[in-house]
Amino acid sequence: MSMRSSSGDLRAEIRAIVASHEGDATELLAILREVQERWRSVSPEAITAIAEELDISRIHVEGTATFYHFFSERHAGNYTVYVNTSTTAEMAGAGAVIDAFERELGIKMGGNTPDNCVGLRSTSCIGMSDQEPAILINGTVFTEVSPARVKELVAAMRAQLPISSQVRPSEDGNNALPQIRAEVRNHIRRRGPVIFADYTAGEALRRAMELGSLEVVELIKASGLRGRGGAGFPTGQKWGLCRAAPADGRTVICNVDEGEPGTFKDRVLITERTEMVLEAMTIAGYAVEAKEGILYLRGEYAYLRPHLEKTLAELRSRQLLGRKILGTRFSFDIHIKQGAGAYICGEESALIESAEGKRGQPRNRPPFPVTSGYRHQPTIVNNPETLCCALRAVLKGADWFRALGTAASTGVKLLSVAGDCAEPGVYEVEWGLTVQDVLTLCKATDVLAVQVGGPSGVCVSERQFQRKLCYSDLSTGGAFTIFGKGRDLLSIVHNHMEFFRDESCGFCVPCRAGNVLLVKSLEKIMMGAGTAGDLVSIRKLGQLVKTASRCGLGQTAPNPLLTTLDNFPEHYADKVRSDVDFISQFSLEHAVVDACAAANRKPNLRKE
Ligand code: SF4
Repeated sequence: MSMRSSSGDLRAEIRAIVASHEGDATELLAILREVQERWRSVSPEAITAIAEELDISRIHVEGTATFYHFFSERHAGNYTVYVNTSTTAEMAGAGAVIDAFERELGIKMGGNTPDNCVGLRSTSCIGMSDQEPAILINGTVFTEVSPARVKELVAAMRAQLPISSQVRPSEDGNNALPQIRAEVRNHIRRRGPVIFADYTAGEALRRAMELGSLEVVELIKASGLRGRGGAGFPTGQKWGLCRAAPADGRTVICNVDEGEPGTFKDRVLITERTEMVLEAMTIAGYAVEAKEGILYLRGEYAYLRPHLEKTLAELRSRQLLGRKILGTRFSFDIHIKQGAGAYICGEESALIESAEGKRGQPRNRPPFPVTSGYRHQPTIVNNPETLCCALRAVLKGADWFRALGTAASTGVKLLSVAGDCAEPGVYEVEWGLTVQDVLTLCKATDVLAVQVGGPSGVCVSERQFQRKLCYSDLSTGGAFTIFGKGRDLLSIVHNHMEFFRDESCGFCVPCRAGNVLLVKSLEKIMMGAGTAGDLVSIRKLGQLVKTASRCGLGQTAPNPLLTTLDNFPEHYADKVRSDVDFISQFSLEHAVVDACAAANRKPNLRKE
């Protein structure tokens, strides 16, 4: 597996890669991905060549390449192992898996074997919270990995076997298909009347065409459907604004970039409800009079791309997609854009930037994507769950849909249940269930806390288990992570805060610097050097970060700290001193050792 090539070869190969993407700069991520796969890095020489071949600035290419986790300037190893270190992974034993890799490979996390055969890296949630510990090796997913399995995988990599040969395919639904062949299970625990009810491809699209495009928008408005990603914007209103915006072309984007730790239900949807998601995008395209659809697939779900491509081809052959759909004058087609590991790209304007081949940094708003989105054309961005709800509402009618859930939160919600329970997985439930209802469904007992809506949501205690899942109480994008009694809550909060610190795009100071300071303050408390005054400072700083940050990431990043300070004050009170204002952490001895290390000198410490 030689990865070396001369500069002439490199230029010629990059020219061919760029040409295969028709020299389109919006395909920069796809080009970078191919370069990364080919050379196991994106070198400065490659960046120069890509910039020249695309005729764009070098800084644009470099800025994009350095933004995403899955691109690296240094060699990533012929096999790159990403071990998930999110909270559910740690709870399931990711630490032992990392130890096993380090031992078998003889390297530390972040390093490469001397021959660059294997690179060992950590990553945040890869969408497998119900089957941890999970890892990615060159894009292939391995779940419920044990130290013994690590030994086998390392042996296979050392023998330079194709990593796909090591997959033990799941028998759970479409995961067993040859084009997926994934070691992933769906764990659909509860099927409801909207998403997982019977479905026949094309039926809803025909119904939409009978109704007419404007009527479809009005029906979605009347259904009360709101976005299922967490923000809850009314879907019909979004579609109506996009449809009304004057334009040469409009775009429908399906946001499959669920990156919130603990979320995985969209992964199950695009595995098991693939046709439904793509048909729902087509209905949305019909409603807003768009011609182009983009399915933005998170890099961690690349293993599903062949299945998605195959399904797209089948839908085209059945006239359910492409030119003159169902023999009408309506033409609409969908193509896939793939992310490369950046949580912020789940934010719709950052996603659009990423789909255009740029750094995934949120845009200033207004203008909103509905009037100026992808390529500055009116664009709607919805996740697969929202789109599937819209499809069912078209089939069954607005009144039928409104009858589900509560008056203000209509329809159903998919939950990604993970953590300390007997039956983790995906649950289709009506809005309005209590936290306790869900705990009963998934057979969770002795529960300390539930993280509703992922780290950006709310961490609730037993006192709040009668609160309802709905937009007016506990709004959620779907993550429902359970922590049993005996878990170290502050370690969980620390993991979540580190996640936001690392995923901040760095554009604005409150988010970029504030999250670093919040993590440091928490660490001070965890090591026993915190005072009651530190808790006051954390609250103040947390509120500042929330109010002064530019996008949803910064506006919710302090939530793990703030909501646990509110709901679990005793966990902090136990750790801080209230009788002193300041506890010095300064150690003269450590300072001398550090300074000598920096100056490459031997410390001369005299014992008293
Ligand atoms: Fe970037 Fe954070 Fe600012 Fe959002 S709030 S734009 S993620 S720095």
